[in-house]
Amino acid sequence: MARNSRFFSGATARESPSEPTRRGGTLTAPEALDVLRSRYRSEREKRIRPDGNQQYVKPVGALAGFLDDPFSRPAERDPVTDHTTVTCIGGGFAGLITAAALKDAGVDDVRIVDKAGDVGGTWYWNRYPGAQCDTASMVYMPLLEETGHRPSEKYAHGPELFEHCQRIAKHYGLYENALFNTQVRDLEWDATRAVWIVRTNRGDRFTSRFVTLGVGPLHALKLPGVPGIADFAGRAFHTSRWDYAYTGGDPAGAPLSGLAHRRVAVIGTGATGVQLVPALARDCRELFVVQRTPSSVDVRDNHPIDPDWFAQVARPGWQRRWLENFAASQGIGGPADDLVMDGWTALSRTVNAGMSRIPETERTLEAMLAAYEAADFEVMSRIRDRVDAVVEDPAVAAGLKAWYRQTCKRPCFHDEYLQAFNRPNTHLLETDGKGVERITRTGLVVAGTEYPVDCIVFASGFEVGTEYTKRAGFRVTGRGRAKLARHWADGMRTLHGIHVHGFPNAFLVQQLQGASLLSNVPHNYREAAQAIAQTVGHVLASGAREVEVSAGAEDAWIRLLQTNPLAKLRPRDCTPGYYNNEGHDLEPRSRLNLGHPQGALAFFALLARWRDSGAYEGLEFR
Ligand code: NAP
Repeated sequence: MARNSRFFSGATARESPSEPTRRGGTLTAPEALDVLRSRYRSEREKRIRPDGNQQYVKPVGALAGFLDDPFSRPAERDPVTDHTTVTCIGGGFAGLITAAALKDAGVDDVRIVDKAGDVGGTWYWNRYPGAQCDTASMVYMPLLEETGHRPSEKYAHGPELFEHCQRIAKHYGLYENALFNTQVRDLEWDATRAVWIVRTNRGDRFTSRFVTLGVGPLHALKLPGVPGIADFAGRAFHTSRWDYAYTGGDPAGAPLSGLAHRRVAVIGTGATGVQLVPALARDCRELFVVQRTPSSVDVRDNHPIDPDWFAQVARPGWQRRWLENFAASQGIGGPADDLVMDGWTALSRTVNAGMSRIPETERTLEAMLAAYEAADFEVMSRIRDRVDAVVEDPAVAAGLKAWYRQTCKRPCFHDEYLQAFNRPNTHLLETDGKGVERITRTGLVVAGTEYPVDCIVFASGFEVGTEYTKRAGFRVTGRGRAKLARHWADGMRTLHGIHVHGFPNAFLVQQLQGASLLSNVPHNYREAAQAIAQTVGHVLASGAREVEVSAGAEDAWIRLLQTNPLAKLRPRDCTPGYYNNEGHDLEPRSRLNLGHPQGALAFFALLARWRDSGAYEGLEFR
């Protein structure tokens, strides 16, 4: 239903959102909070679907072309049948940081294996126009001090992030032994020789004393399971496989000249859609942004990093201090001085300011949750007010407002996204929470109306919450032929998110069951990598053949994680999305996806004590 030339909506006028009146200058009056809570609930109810994660389809069969790598072609090579000391599966931040720590610890024989044509992981694949980090570069970009790199901007863009991955690989000599365009299919522990047998899709069958698994939290692209998705006769691709041959332009921001005469639809308005829309709006003849749930889009305020300022900051040990400062900002209380000052720390400062107003003797969990809710309402109201201030058409502005608590979905920060909707060629297809209805040979159908387009860009995200080994794409068979998938049938089980009982000489590099610091994932990798490098170094120095966490230590760690108050929270009031299992109660296997009960900093401190003590408590060396 057309509201005006730029806004097409499936919503009725009655459902158009309006901000509850501020009474007495505050939004936190109990009546106002009630109005907002009920508004949030109704938005959630509108969107919740019985099929949850099953609504998405994998790029297989007729959709397999969505996986093609537009950035490299595998070169012919013979299968590899040699032996390495360590194999790092995944050449993104996780693999690079781990391999770098191993090299620093004197382990020279390290091999990275990645399905991509280079290192980079996320930043190899996600080359869509406008791609940028959302956490400040000073803490997001790993190993800045070690590689001597000064980020060019407060929030670096994709090409710089990808180049930085290549810089790390060169600096640590990680290209020499790497296997790219190579997908691990199978990992099998050979107890007789105490080695892992690694099999790949290129016919490789080599052995490795140790393996690290750093496959990334968001690497398996997913597509909306809408009827007709395979029938579209125009060009369609996922944002993680951007087709510059078709669109023209480049990741550095050159105009997408191939779209100048084309009508383009983008499906999805998550963090990717938000970054992408401004470039598409600038360059397409006509752009249709299909929205199911609006993102909260706060101020970005990006700027170049001043070399003089950086020289002042970059004293020895600076990045560790900044990382710890950022991690502290994500906990209750926060640091005395916020060094990072990005969108995430701003969010925490607001919440902590609310909590600090509670007298110390009254700081119960309920009181703190109430303060958190009040602070969240303030932030989200400001973000909704910003939409009104930026977007000229009030109906479009109403459609772009997010009605949920900020961390129900990934918070976004951008200074050109909302502005893009003021362009006459850019149309918001507001679907009232329903999404695309159907895809045809020539376009897509939203709220009963067909929109003919030449190109569909799927900004529909990545698999989360599916089984680890299925997502990773390889089987892991440990001691006594134990299968990782079976060991984790009732949920992930580890010590520190790194060691798994039954899987000797194997280490996970990821954030869950450790710090769970989602706002700065590379920091999790850095600490895990240090622990892994020291553990491997200890095995090699001690003459042991293998290291494995004991069943008792793994159990004790899981019991500790279960004391995390977050274990009891259910996503009952959140708009569905991948942050909350699409709004459904967590499946049993996801209930253990927790972090340390005292937060990220406490975990990092514990891990540092654990590895530096030299006792490696909970591990058995044989
Ligand atoms: P996402 O957050 O999962 O968003 C997917 C989008 O597709 C959502 O807007 C979703 O709507 C929409 N969608 C799904 N099915 C649909 C349908 N049938 N019809 C219409 N719309 C549909 O994926 P993403 O934006 O790629 O981001 C994934 C994650 O990657 C981020 O959360 C972030 O962690 C990371 N990321 C980071 C950066 C960065 O740091 N710079 C940049 C981009 C991405 P609903 O919301 O209604 O489900």
